[in-house]
Amino acid sequence: MGRPSSYTLDESPWVQPHSKSQGVQKTIGEIKMPEGSPEVGQDRESRAALVRASVHAYFMWHTGQLPGITREWIDNRARNISNEFVSSELIPNVDAHWCMYSLKAQLDREDRTGEKPVITLDASVLSMGQHLPPVDMLPQIIPDSALSVPQIPDPETGIAPPPLDPLFNEGNDFGSGIEKLMHAYRMLPNFLLYYYELVMEEIEDVQRNYLQQVDFVYASSLANVHFEPPAYTIMCGNLETTSTVHELRQSNDIGKLKRLKAQVIHTGGTNSTILMGAFKCSGTPKNPCATITHLPQDPYDDVLREPSSCPADTESGGCGRKKGEIAFTLLNKPETTTDTIQMIQVQDVDSEDGSPKTIHVEMRGDLCGEIVDGGFVTLDGVLMSKPIGRGKKHREPYFFCTAIVENGKTRTIAVSPEDEEVIRNWISERSVEQVMNDLAKHFAPIIHGHMNVKKAIILQTVGGIRIESQGKRGDLHILLLGDPGVAKSQLLNAAVKASPGSHLYDCSQATQAGLVAAAEKLKDAFSSGESWGIKAGALALTPDHAICALDEFHLLGGKDTTVVESLNVALEAQEVRISKAAKGVVRTRVAVLMAANPRTRDARFDPDSPTPLYQQAGIKVNTASRTDYVAIMRDLEEEALDISISESMWDAADPALQTLQSEVFPIENFMPKLVTLAKRIETVFFEPKAKSYLVNSYNDARKNAGAEGKVTPRRNESLRRFVQAVTRLTLQGTATINHAKFAEKLMRTSMTDTHPGQMDGGQTSKQKELYDKILSIFGICYTQELDKNPEADFVHLDAMETYVSQNWDSKIDKPARGKIHSAMKAFEEEGRIERKGYKYAPRT
Ligand SMILES: [Zn+2]
Repeated sequence: MGRPSSYTLDESPWVQPHSKSQGVQKTIGEIKMPEGSPEVGQDRESRAALVRASVHAYFMWHTGQLPGITREWIDNRARNISNEFVSSELIPNVDAHWCMYSLKAQLDREDRTGEKPVITLDASVLSMGQHLPPVDMLPQIIPDSALSVPQIPDPETGIAPPPLDPLFNEGNDFGSGIEKLMHAYRMLPNFLLYYYELVMEEIEDVQRNYLQQVDFVYASSLANVHFEPPAYTIMCGNLETTSTVHELRQSNDIGKLKRLKAQVIHTGGTNSTILMGAFKCSGTPKNPCATITHLPQDPYDDVLREPSSCPADTESGGCGRKKGEIAFTLLNKPETTTDTIQMIQVQDVDSEDGSPKTIHVEMRGDLCGEIVDGGFVTLDGVLMSKPIGRGKKHREPYFFCTAIVENGKTRTIAVSPEDEEVIRNWISERSVEQVMNDLAKHFAPIIHGHMNVKKAIILQTVGGIRIESQGKRGDLHILLLGDPGVAKSQLLNAAVKASPGSHLYDCSQATQAGLVAAAEKLKDAFSSGESWGIKAGALALTPDHAICALDEFHLLGGKDTTVVESLNVALEAQEVRISKAAKGVVRTRVAVLMAANPRTRDARFDPDSPTPLYQQAGIKVNTASRTDYVAIMRDLEEEALDISISESMWDAADPALQTLQSEVFPIENFMPKLVTLAKRIETVFFEPKAKSYLVNSYNDARKNAGAEGKVTPRRNESLRRFVQAVTRLTLQGTATINHAKFAEKLMRTSMTDTHPGQMDGGQTSKQKELYDKILSIFGICYTQELDKNPEADFVHLDAMETYVSQNWDSKIDKPARGKIHSAMKAFEEEGRIERKGYKYAPRT
C-alpha cells in the first residue's frame, strides 16, 4: 500500500481522527470518555487493567516494530503534523509534539544532549489523534499475532519468556486486535487527565519491555538493578483551562492533571530523597546474613524507615532476626534508588485583594533547579494533598509538577495586528520631538509641567538594550527628588500603568528580602522540619525590563545597611548572589524608579546647599551614582501646581473634556501597547552622523563642566541607554541624529548634568564660593571675638550668624544659620577647625 512521503493535514486521509465509529468526542476543556469506557465509579482494579492496556498500546505503537508502522513512518507523520500544529497555531507548544514521535526519536532528542532522556505524553496532542490513522488507512494489515508484549530475557540464560497478550480486549469489543489497540490508545489522554497516578504505575511496570526493543542501553541494563528509566513529561495541554492558585485550591480536583499559571516567590534547595531503601542485614558474628531488604520511603518524612526485622521466608533466605539482634546498613546506589526533589512556592500573578494565594509545588528529577526566582511559570501537574500538623489531622493541597510549560521572567500584553497598524501610523505621522511631547502631555496629566521628568520616565518604560558581552545593563534607573507637596506618586503610578508587569513598592518597611531577595527559613509544609530557600523580593518579582517603582525611597532600610548594599548590586550588576544558608543567584533585570522626599530639617530640597542632594534625601552616593537621570521637583512651583491640580480636577469632571481625553490616543491602552511593540526591537544601530554627534557631545560636556564638576563615563552609558530607548519608542531599529539630539538634550536637564558636583559628592563653584566666604568670615569673626574677650578661645554659632547677617557682601544668597553650621561641620571634617557643639575654634 503506497503512501505519499509527506502531506499536509488537509490532504491527510485521517483529518477527522475521532469518527463516530471510534467513539471519541473531543471537546476542549470538557473531555468525554470514549463510548464503552468504564464508569468513573468502577473499582480501581478494573480501571488499572484498562489503563494498563492503554499504556501497552502507546508503547507498542511507538516502538516502530509493528508491521508497516516503522520508526521512520511514525516520525515522518509526527513531523508533518507538528508543522501543521505550529503554522495553524492549534498547538504552538512544540515540546508537546514529541509524544507523537517514536520512542527512539524521543529518547535521542538532540535538544536534550547530556540530559536524561525523556518521554512526553501530552493529553491534548494525543486526544487530537492526528498521528493515528483509522485502521483501514494503515500501511498494511497488522495481524493479531504481531500484537504481543515483548518479554525481558532471563539474566542467567539470556532467554526471554514467550511474548504475552497485552489484553486489549479488556472492556472493549472492536473486532481485530489492531482495532482494540487503537481504541485502548485513544483512551490514554483521558486516563492521563483523570488517573495520572494509575498511568504512572502502569508505565513503571511495562516500560522496560518496550524500551529494551528500541535502545540497547535499556536492553543491556534491563536485567540488573542499574535500570534507570527515562524521565516522563506529562502535560494536559489545552484540555484543561489554565488555573490560578486561587482556583486550584478551591477546585478540590485531587489527583487530576491541571495547568497552573503563577509567579515563583520561593525556591527551596534541591535535595536527594530516597525512593526505595536497600537495607543489608549484618547477621551475627557466628551467622553472617547479608540479606537485602527493600523498603519504600515516604519522601515527606525526614525519618529514614528501617525494616523491623530480617525476612525469614525461603525466597529471600534471611535470618529472621529482629532489629537489635542484628543491624541494618543502608546501601548506596544502585541498590538504593533515589530521586532529587525541590519544593518551590508560587503565588497568583495578579491578586484582587492584595493578598495573593500561594501553593507549594513539588519538582522531581530533571525539573529540579529549573525554576527562576520571581519567574512567571506555567506548570502542568497533579493536585495532591498531604497531611500536615501534629496528629496529621489536616490536609494541605500541593501541586506535583509533571511538566514545565513556560518558565520566564518577561511579561507583555497582546497587541493585535490592527492595533499595531494604528500605533505605527500614529508614530510615523510625528517627528521624534512630537512623539515625546504628545506622550508626555498625556502622561500623569494631573501633574502639569515637569515635561522633562515625564519624558525621562516614558523612555524608562522602554529602556535601552543590554550589552550582554560586557554585562552592561540596558534598563534606565531614575531618581526623583521631590518636596513633600509634589505629587511624585502620580508619576510612579503612571509609569507602572504604562509598562506591562510593573510594580509599585513602598520602601518604608523594606528589608533586603522584601526589596531584592534573601535566604529565608521556611517551615516545611509537610514534614516537621524547616528548610532554607530563596525568597524573591520586589525587584526579583518584577518582570524583566519592567519598572519597579520604589516610593518613599528615603525611608529605605533604616539601620540595615545590607538592604542598600544589595540594592546597589541589583541596580548595576542586575544579579544578586545569595550566599547564606540558601545559595543562588537572583536576577533583577528591571528599571528602577525611585521617589524620595528630603530628610532635611525644613523638609525642602536645596540644590545650593553644601549638603549634596542625595544626602538631603538620605540616599547613599553609591546608589545615586547608579541612576541615569535625577530630577528635582521643588515645591517652589507649589502655587502653580495647586492651580494645575484644581484645573485638572475640573477638567476631569467636564464630560466634553473627558471625551477629548479619551480621543487623545487612537486606541485604548495605547501606552502599554506602544511599549510592548517598542520592546520587541532588540537591536539598535547608530547612523554615522548620530554616532559622531554623540562622541562630540561627550567632549563638549566635559569641557563645559569645568569647575562645576566632572562628566563621568557613567554619563556616556546613560546617554547610550536614552538614545536606544527613544529609538525603540519611535519603533525604529536605527538611531538617527534626531534621536541622538533628543536624548542629549534630555540628559542635560538631569541634575547629574545641571549639578554634577551635587551628584558625585563634590561642590559646585557656587558652593565653593559660599564655603570660602563662610571660612573667611569665621577668621575675621574669631579675631574680633578675641579682641572683645581675650579669655574666649572660640566663636559661637550665634556670633557667626550675627556677623554674617551684618557683614554679608557676596552676590550669593546670605546663608541661614543651618547652612553656616553645616559648613563649619564640613571644615571640621577637613581638619581646618575644631568644634565642640556650636563652638568653633581654628585648628592649632
Ligand atoms: Zn538477616
